[in-house]
Amino acid sequence: MKLVLLGAAGSGKGTLAKNIVKDFNLPQLSTGDILREIAKENSKLGETVASYQKEGKLVPDEITFEVLKNRLSKNDCLNGYILDGYPRTLNQAKLLAKITDIDAVISIELDLDEIVKRLVSRRNCPKCGEIDNTNHEGYNGLCRKCQTPLFQRDDDKPDAIKARLEVYKQNITPLINFYGDKVFVVSSAGSPEETYKPVKTFLEGLKNE
Ligand code: AMP
Repeated sequence: MKLVLLGAAGSGKGTLAKNIVKDFNLPQLSTGDILREIAKENSKLGETVASYQKEGKLVPDEITFEVLKNRLSKNDCLNGYILDGYPRTLNQAKLLAKITDIDAVISIELDLDEIVKRLVSRRNCPKCGEIDNTNHEGYNGLCRKCQTPLFQRDDDKPDAIKARLEVYKQNITPLINFYGDKVFVVSSAGSPEETYKPVKTFLEGLKNE
């Protein structure tokens, strides 16, 4: 199965993807993660990517599409994958359609105020990638899996969040229209389990088609 996950930053895309990975044995391809790795490199490309990411702006298509094509050519993608963070624009969807056919698109919906609340409190582990938030009892700034001090992504700060959500709002409707009846919409207002349940049922149906 070749899946696309659509959803604003902070809508729970990554968490949903992890659940799908577990049950359907598909690799999760997060362009945000891949580009963050490139941004750490000491190169012109790394510098360019970092400058866009820091401000919450989209990295140009020439770079992002090359990065994606390269990732899709790896062996673990032969039986399908979950695209998390690509496409983000209609143009990206059209580029993707030139190299592959997507089976289904899961679109996560969540109120923008709730998204901002989730993003400003989000913290990440630099070592194992675990994601936590500052809002729960017992939060102590350390990763609950490996005890490494957590950090806040530069683009989870208020100005960058605003920019990222603006980009998302502008692009989501054309994307949904482009994919038409391949789109399955789910709300992530409840718990991660509640979000995943209908998606799992939908994907099981798709797999058995
Ligand atoms: P994410 O981790 O998905 O929130 O992505 C973080 C940042 O990576 C975005 O704000 C962009 O700067 C960059 N990025 C990720 N995916 C894409 C994409 N499909 N097109 C352009 N830039 C992207």
